[in-house]
This record gives sequence, C-alpha cells and structure tokens, in this order.
Amino acid sequence: MFKCSTFKCLEPPIKQCSICREALFCNKCTIIHKDKHFEEKTQFIFKSIKFNLSKARLTRLRNNIKEFIINIELQKNNIIKEAIKIHKKIDYMIKSAFEQLDFMIKEYFDIYRKNKFKEKDIHKIQEIIKGKSKFEYPLFSDIEGILTKNIIIINHITKSVSRNKIQNEYGLFLEGHTNLVKSVAITNDNQFVIKP
Ligand SMILES: [Zn+2]
Ligand SMILES: [Zn+2]
Repeated sequence: MFKCSTFKCLEPPIKQCSICREALFCNKCTIIHKDKHFEEKTQFIFKSIKFNLSKARLTRLRNNIKEFIINIELQKNNIIKEAIKIHKKIDYMIKSAFEQLDFMIKEYFDIYRKNKFKEKDIHKIQEIIKGKSKFEYPLFSDIEGILTKNIIIINHITKSVSRNKIQNEYGLFLEGHTNLVKSVAITNDNQFVIKP
C-alpha cells in the first residue's frame, strides 16, 4: 500500500519524517535520512506512519464495517438456530432410547411376575437364564462445527483504463484486441495478460 520515498527503494516504510512533508522511509532509508539531516544540521522528527482516508473511502469503510457487524450478529443467530436443531435431535434420541429401554424393563417385569409361562415366552426365558445383560456404553458421535469461517466478497469496481496506462503502469502488453475488455487474467508466470 505504501512505498518508501527513496527512489527505487522497494522496502516497506516504517516511519515518516515530519520535517520533510511526512515522507515515508523504510528501516534502512530512515538511517540514511537521519544522517542527511545531521549533515545538513537540520532538525528531523520521525513518527510512526499515520494516514487519512478520503471522505468517500472512509464512508465506505464505515458502511462496510456496519454491514460486517450485522453479518456477525446474523451468524450468531444462525449458530443458535442450528444448535437448537442439534439439541432437539439429541432430545429425540434420548426420548426414543428411553422408550425402548422402558419397554425392555416392562418385558422383564412381565416375565418376573409370572409363575406359569406361555409357549411364546420360552425363547426369552432361555436367553435370560443363559447369561447376563450388558449394554455398550452410550456413544454420541463427536459434534464438530464450522461456526466462524468467513470470506470477504470483493465488490468489483469497474474502472476504464487505456491501453497506454496498462502498458505504462503495469508493464503489460495488450495485443490483438481493440474493443472494450471487461475482465482480464494474468498468466501464472506474470508475463502475459489474457482476456478470459
Ligand atoms: Zn526529513
Ligand atoms: Zn527505503
């Protein structure tokens, strides 16, 4: 976003000199610039970089933040909505398991109370006499959730740029196309711009 104000220096700036029209300097250039002020016996004031946004960008920033916060609140509501669904599902599983278990208790009690048995009981009786009853320990599968993953959708801004501007500013050469190009893609080696 920012560039060191030293000609051809590509390092990211870390300070700005208040004496020299808030010029930005990288780590290395800050030392060189300090020496320059010493040599010239002039004052220097290095400050952390501070910047203002244009009114339009500031409004857009704040509007987008408001929208982002609304979306976060919406996400919180959706999480609660989904959590309630899971809660209901677990409640249903518990209820249905209890119904089955209570039915088993009833079946055992029915046999327990009897002195005389019917033919249909024989299988159950044999089963009970043979061994012990043992349940597998209850298991709910682990609940995992993707709850805070988000993406920022870039609002595409349509901007008209001339062929010369593309060549001068981006060093890209457009060939074989004369009409308006609505979108472009850049090859993996950053060498060519193509119209998809
Ligand atoms: Zn300075
Ligand atoms: Zn620099």
